[in-house]
Amino acid sequence: MTPVKVKVENQEYLYILWDDNTETKIDLPALRDACPCAECQTGKDPKTENLPFKPLTLGKKTEIADINVVGNYALNIFWKDGHHTGIYEFGYLRQLGKQ
Ligand SMILES: [Zn+2]
Repeated sequence: MTPVKVKVENQEYLYILWDDNTETKIDLPALRDACPCAECQTGKDPKTENLPFKPLTLGKKTEIADINVVGNYALNIFWKDGHHTGIYEFGYLRQLGKQ
């Protein structure tokens, strides 16, 4: 299972066409929210989740600057606010597309 085509549509969602002809579409805010890196997962800790702090870069946080394929198993997504430590495994992306 590998992506044949990966593209960002209008900075609204990520479109992936897989080699089995399945299509996956994931809204960018949902994709960012699901960032699997340690930093973001820590940020989702219930103790810190409800802090009244909002990052100033919120607007660009959910826009994609670049996408790199990592090995043959994942996508590394570069967000416009500079965040790029999230490695999204293919299986994880397909899972996200189904929600
Ligand atoms: Zn992250």
